[in-house]
Amino acid sequence: MDEAATREEICDIGRRIYARQFAAGNDGNISCRLTDNVVLCTPTLICKGFMQPDDLCTVDLDGNQLSGTRRCTSEIKLHLEVYRGDPTATAVVHCHPPHATAFGLARVEIPTGILPEVEVFLGAVPQADYATPGSAQFAETIRPFVGRASAVVLSNHGTVSWGPSVERAYWNTEVLDAYCRMLLLSRQLGHIERLNAEQVRELLGLRESFGSPPDPRLTRDGPLYVNPEFGRNDET
Ligand SMILES: [Zn+2]
Repeated sequence: MDEAATREEICDIGRRIYARQFAAGNDGNISCRLTDNVVLCTPTLICKGFMQPDDLCTVDLDGNQLSGTRRCTSEIKLHLEVYRGDPTATAVVHCHPPHATAFGLARVEIPTGILPEVEVFLGAVPQADYATPGSAQFAETIRPFVGRASAVVLSNHGTVSWGPSVERAYWNTEVLDAYCRMLLLSRQLGHIERLNAEQVRELLGLRESFGSPPDPRLTRDGPLYVNPEFGRNDET
């Protein structure tokens, strides 16, 4: 995809983020890697629902601004942490989707083994420690998860997700927030039933055919269930 088309796509995803109320006011930022060392990103102090292609700017992987009349977002450090740590990441989306962010405010880990789409497309979503937004320490909080997750909840802040295209990176946020909304609704009905281990492994085995990377829960033989107390079955 050429740069002009990527600029249009970032503005389009910005409109979708704003329309879904994933970013209030000037919240959120979107970026896409143009070359190995050049990243196109959204500027600071702009509503993501009303951006024009010329509003975007470019930075190198050290965060130095290369082009653009507007100043680049201070949260670009978070995006660069992803690009430096995961060569398969082409785009990064950061925003504050309310249902997923609620888990970050309550410091409750996103449970696994409940919804098929989440197992196949998203996998386990870890929660990063809190740090002041925009600081160097803030970007470092996600380092342990880059290369082994597609989305992270930022404690007391929001979410960040990435993928092989701007739309795939955004989908990971959308799937995560829809899942968190369902979890909060089903919690109000009482009991949440988990899929059993065989059912979860079968779903994780489908990931490759849908273009998702291998799930570390299978390849590293980790526990299938994150936060097993959130919903129970006989095996959790
Ligand atoms: Zn933020």
